[in-house]
Formats: sequence, structure tokens, C-alpha cells
Amino acid sequence: MRTAIATVSLSGTLEEKFEAIAAACFTGVEIFENDLLSYSGSPADAKRIAGDLGLEIVTFQPFRDFEGLPEPARSRAFARAERKFDLMQELGTDLLLICSNVAPDALGGIDRAAEDFRLLGEKAAARGLRVGFEALAWGRHINDYRDAWEVVRRADHPSVGLVLDTFHALARKTDLKAIRAIPRDRIFLVQVADAPLLDMDYLNWSRHFRCLPGQGDLPLDDFMDALGATRFDGILSLEIFSDRFRAGSTRAVAVDGRRSLLFMLDELRKRGGGELPGVAPLPERSRCHGVEFIEFAVDDAFQPGFETLLRGLGFRRSGQHRSKAVTRWSQGGINLVLNAEKEGFAHSYNVAHGSSVCALALRVDDAEAAMARARALLDQSYRGRIGPGELAIPALRGLGSSLLYLVDQKTASLWETDFRAVEDDGDTLPAGLTDIDHVQQSMPYEEMLTWLLFYVALLDVAKSPVQEVVDPGGVVHSQVVQTADGALRLVLNASQSRRTLSARFLDGIVGSGVQHLAFATDDIVATVERLKAAGVDLLPIPENYYDDLEAKGLAPEEIDRLRRLDILYDRDGSAEYRQAYTRSLAEGFFFEIVERRGYVGFGAVNAPIRLAAQTRFARPASPL
Ligand code: MG
Ligand code: MG
Repeated sequence: MRTAIATVSLSGTLEEKFEAIAAACFTGVEIFENDLLSYSGSPADAKRIAGDLGLEIVTFQPFRDFEGLPEPARSRAFARAERKFDLMQELGTDLLLICSNVAPDALGGIDRAAEDFRLLGEKAAARGLRVGFEALAWGRHINDYRDAWEVVRRADHPSVGLVLDTFHALARKTDLKAIRAIPRDRIFLVQVADAPLLDMDYLNWSRHFRCLPGQGDLPLDDFMDALGATRFDGILSLEIFSDRFRAGSTRAVAVDGRRSLLFMLDELRKRGGGELPGVAPLPERSRCHGVEFIEFAVDDAFQPGFETLLRGLGFRRSGQHRSKAVTRWSQGGINLVLNAEKEGFAHSYNVAHGSSVCALALRVDDAEAAMARARALLDQSYRGRIGPGELAIPALRGLGSSLLYLVDQKTASLWETDFRAVEDDGDTLPAGLTDIDHVQQSMPYEEMLTWLLFYVALLDVAKSPVQEVVDPGGVVHSQVVQTADGALRLVLNASQSRRTLSARFLDGIVGSGVQHLAFATDDIVATVERLKAAGVDLLPIPENYYDDLEAKGLAPEEIDRLRRLDILYDRDGSAEYRQAYTRSLAEGFFFEIVERRGYVGFGAVNAPIRLAAQTRFARPASPL
């Protein structure tokens, strides 16, 4: 299968789109008519630019309201088609995509439509061109690919073929079995798009909310399995109408598009027994065994107060980097790295974003294999300066220009090679924190799908459905990416409102990043008592919250204890969740403490309470 992308999927001018599409290693492009209309050059110029970039124009689209028209509209539609054929010849493409008629005066009837297509096929063939027929989910008479196929079959002309579009078939939940019986040479093009499940009309759902394969909720794999049964070896093209992508970066969306297809096709290859013509196998997705460390880029103003907070949380300084101003702080299975270097990556990060998390390090089985997959998926690798005797830990560019390190058995010895153990100079008592429970990253709304795809394509993780959390300043969209065993849980948050805490955090650190880290404890009551005794500022929870807890079946003494310690509570069946928060630092970053008893969620019911409490203590919203 060859891969292409429609110009409508990207923002920018036609030239910018071509460049981004070629840079993302596509070899084909569908030209959306509006992109040509708004282009200042001629169709021949567009052909030359695409050709110079190694791009083949695989189709010109869309041609609307063609089949089943009464005279004189019918003759006018044929004349209109001839003018498009002229343009296609200048453009150097041989395929015209015709979508099913939505006009009120269109007449029904498979035979009538087939007759129109047979005649158009003859006209196209006379010029060496082809036409492909696509059923729109909202077509007036033809809105089902099975009917479009019947039109093509009865037109019985080699220059007339079928165009399949995953959105139109899956949005209507059309049975996919019939795809398996279509001869593959009659399928001229397959357009691919995913979408979130939304309860709205097909047209608006399609025009504004499409997304890349793997980013939405449609059963694309079922569609691809049916297509695979035909042994289709033609062009698979992304056609993504999306308000988000039109607000996003042209290059990033093109790369995401390519990544989504590589991932989807590799999964199809595996389900089909290992081989798919034209699809090179990718290395397996890496299993992730948790977070090895979290690195903070800190400056002199931030570090002392932050270290005091870490001590209050029960961390002790356990290692000093052999050649750099970098220290390791530990408790239970948690490693935090404070990087105060005055040059290099962390320093640049600190200058650009302020004191914040600059890197996550994930434990994987085989870091080199993970990197090989990442490179195949067009992820950006990163190489820092390595001191003598230090380990080179493979790294990728992650969210908001932070780094994602991949640590395996071989490089886990970094704590011995790069660090020397130190006897802590403070008098820290451990607070019972055992592990990193989850990492929460905030990002602009347009970027959320990018990072969702990044993690899901690279690692053996699954994504949860989108949750909407109400913040006093607006709605925050939240989606979780996690391993089946919970060793890694990443919570991705984005908001469109500038007034949510999530958005204000982005303003504060000038970009995306880790807004909070949640630590696990086996006994949150003991942990929080320790933190309070150590003088850690915990987020005060309003009294009213606790009046409501009785409904959850807690004993009054337990409710009193939670109230006294500012602990939030949730129950799901017999599973229980208890959580507490530190006050936010000036930068908006905070820590969370959680105790899970069989609970798999994140206390979403408590999020509005927490957000309201944090908002009361936050700096005023930026005036923009
Ligand atoms: Mg389409
Ligand atoms: Mg949380």
C-alpha cells in the first residue's frame, strides 16, 4: 500500500503543505479544490512544485453533485466535469474524486447513477483519466458504500472505480463485510480518518472533528481488516477535516499523519500473520515498566525552597553527579533529579520555561529497540553531551521540547556510573512514598492528539476515552495513557479556555509540561500526618466537601480524619481512592499523594473541588 494525504488535512499555503507532506515522507498528495483556488500559481506550477518534491498528485477532489440529475442540470454537470478534466491534465493527475450527490433535485436510482458514471467513464477514458465514486454519509440518495459500489459495478467501465472513506462507513456503522467482496482493482482510493464518538449530524462531525487513525474512537481496525481481505495494494490517503489541525502546525500534523499510518499498517500486518506488501515491519512497541526518574531543570532562586519541600515530603539527597551540578533525590522507588547546570539542555530548558520538569525517564525492556521504533515512526531523537565515563541514555524529544529518556537494564546502572552516593546532610524522615503513581502533563488543546499518538505508537500503552473536567475557568479535556498493569500512567490535560489552571500553567512555564506528579503511598493518613508535621503546605479542602462524604458510606471518625488532613476520597464499588495535594509552587507545579485500594481511576469526581481550591490560592489570571 502507498500512503498519501489530502491537502485539506493541513493548515498553510499550498506550497507549505507540499513541503510538509514531502518532509513527512509521503509520496502522494490529494489536492483539495479550495487549495488550488486560493493558490496564486497555475495548476502547472503546482504540478511542478509537487514533482520537484517527489510528490505524485494522486487525485483531485471533490467533484460534487454529479449523479442522478434531471436535464438541464445533467448536461451542465457533464460540462463542468470536462472543465475539471482540463484542469487535472494541467495538474498531472488522472483521478477525479466524485462524492455522492446532495442536491435536492437529484433523482434516486442505482441504474440512473450507473448510466451517468458509464458515460462519464467514457469521456474520462478518452483523455486517459479515471473517476472514483465516494458515498458521503449524508448523500441524498447514496450514502452507503455498498450502494456506491453497486453503481460502479453496473457502470461496468474500467475508468470508473470506487472510493472508500473510513469515516463515512464507520460513522453510519455500515456493515463492513461487503468490502471483502469488492475486487481490489475496482477500489481506486481509500481515504482514512478516525473521529471521536460524538452525537451529532454526520456533516458537522465529518467537517470539524475528524482526526488521525488511533486518535479517535472509530473501529478503524475492523475496516482495515476488511480492506486487507481484498489484498488491496493501492493508495491509502488521510483525509482529515479538523478544526484542531487547521489551528495546528503544518509540519507537525503531516508527521503525525505519517506516524499514524505507519502504526496502523504495522498493526494490520501483525493481525494478518506478519506480512503486508509494501509495509516494512516496525520493531515492537516497548513494554514500559514505570518511571526511572524525573528530572527538574532548576535555577538558584528555585532550588533551595524546592529542596526544603522535597525534604518535607520525605525525600533524601542520595546521589551527586560526578561532573555536573546535578543531584539525585530518592524515596521508595522514586528518583528525582535536580539539574542546576549553567549550560546544556536543562539550563536552556530552564531559561525558556523556568524551573520545571525537563525530562522523564521511562524504564523499558530494550532502549535501543524502542529507539529503532521511534526513528521508524519519525520521532525526533536527541543527543546530549556525555562526560567521560558517563552513560549515553537514548532520548527523544518529548512534550514541549522536554526529553523522554529510555532506560533499560544496561543503562539502569547510571546511578553508579554517573553519580556517587552521598550521605544526606539533612535529617529527613521518610514519609512512606513508594512510587510514582502518575504524571500529569498539560498542553495546548491543538497538541493533545499529537502526544496521545506519540505515546500510543511508541509504547505498549492504551488510551482512555476523553474526560471533561470542570475547572472554575472552563473545561479541561483529560485523557489517560497507561500500561495494562499501571506501571506507567500519564494523564494528558488540555483546555481551550485561557482561564483554566491548566492554561494558566502553560502561560506560567511558557509551553507544555508536567504540571503535577502524583506519588503513591500505602497509608495516606500516616504520610499526610508526617507531611503536616514536617511543615509541608497542603492544599486546604473546603469543609463542605466532607459533609457530602457520608453518602459514600464512610464512618464519621474516618470522615473527621480525612477532614483534618485535607484528604479527598472516592469509591468505585469496593475500590477506594484517597488523595491529597501540596499547594502549588509559584510556577503552578504541585505534587499529589495518592493511596489506591484496587482503584483504577484518578478521582475525577474530586477534580472540580481540587481545581476550585487551587484557583483560590493561585495568582490572578493573566489579563489576556
Ligand atoms: Mg472522503
Ligand atoms: Mg491526579
